[in-house]
Amino acid sequence: MKIHEYQAREILQQAGIPIPPGEVIESIDEAAAVFKSVTKEAGTDFAVIKAMVHAGGRGKAGFVKLIHSAEEATEAARFMLSNKMVSVQTGPEGLDVSKLLIAAGVGIDHEYYLAITTDRGARRNVLIASREGGVEIEKVAHENPDAILKQHIHPSMGLQPHQARRLAFDLGFKGKQINQAAKIMIALADTYEKRDCTIAEINPLIVTPPSSDHPDGQVLAIDAKFNFDDNALYRQKQVAAMFDPAEEDPGEMRAKKFDLSYIPLDGSIGCLVNGAGLAMATMDIIKHFGGDPANFLDVGGSATEEAVTEGFRIILSDENCKGVLVNIFGGIMRCDVIAQAIANAAKEVGFEVPLVVRLEGTNVEEGRAILEEAKSQIPTMQTARDLGEAAEMVVAAVG
Ligand code: GDP
Ligand code: MN
Repeated sequence: MKIHEYQAREILQQAGIPIPPGEVIESIDEAAAVFKSVTKEAGTDFAVIKAMVHAGGRGKAGFVKLIHSAEEATEAARFMLSNKMVSVQTGPEGLDVSKLLIAAGVGIDHEYYLAITTDRGARRNVLIASREGGVEIEKVAHENPDAILKQHIHPSMGLQPHQARRLAFDLGFKGKQINQAAKIMIALADTYEKRDCTIAEINPLIVTPPSSDHPDGQVLAIDAKFNFDDNALYRQKQVAAMFDPAEEDPGEMRAKKFDLSYIPLDGSIGCLVNGAGLAMATMDIIKHFGGDPANFLDVGGSATEEAVTEGFRIILSDENCKGVLVNIFGGIMRCDVIAQAIANAAKEVGFEVPLVVRLEGTNVEEGRAILEEAKSQIPTMQTARDLGEAAEMVVAAVG
């Protein structure tokens, strides 16, 4: 599960990681007052306004802006709330923006990257850091991998202070900054573990220019991203409450309601299958015949006729879907349930695109009889004897 930056800030705060003060707004007319209050609180003359969406690359897309007056705050809020954000991480259709964060602006001497994730190969969590932080960490990892430093974290002892100080030193933090940075690293590692995260990232972690209060500069987090393990949400009540359905793929949400798993992809052939292994095999064989899956929907073993019918509605509502392949190997799932759901979907939504059905296994004769009866209502339907034939047929039909 992903959360918004303003929610991530709450978690940072609870971990004792310093951030500039900020507030969330949902309408253009709140911008001016919030600009005034956050700058007053921090004693600064500028602020930053940011779109709250579950995607990065906001800076480059024009959805992170520095603002120097209440008028600029209003203008930026108007732009961000009335345009979709399109960044390298969103795809061309972009994302709607309904919330903005206005945070006090800070001077930046240097931007660092800091993250914790799990290194499956090493079977440990790992702290990843770089002196080349900011907006293009993927590029750094690619072009200059030596600029990425790592420390593996002991599973029971956690990140040790000497490891954190070593890393802070190697990153080039100076004087009092070293302890500030090390403290943040330890707090982030602790939060990662305690909150069942799969990613805890601060980018950038910054150092402010020296001031009278902080002659060595101050280390602050000004952007954060957290992802959480869905299977742990039952014991992470505070995190689970941060779920924002508006940010989820509507198809995936509908599928979840019926205990189906639906994965949207980029191709043109919708797949309804039972079992994740069969889904993989189905996609492989579609590719083998030169096609590309638009999605796959796994109905599992125990889905009801109602759930499978919803599955067809979800697949057919995907605009990229130019043909549907049903590949069922009935074990616990019965072929007649699938056939009945096909008949229901034909009646309710109609299959305007080609449909290829391959049924095998439990109650296959009953299933075939149902399809035979419904055939006149599904002129685009073809049936196949095996998976190879089915894949070839659907690829040919989609063209
Ligand atoms: P992202 O592009 O979605 O990762 O958004 P960020 O919140 O990380 O902001 C992108 C960039 O904007 C940062 O790397 C900074 O360079 C700049 N930025 C953000 N907040 C401030 C701020 O308070 N002061 C200054 N000077 N720059 C900021
Ligand atoms: Mn960032």
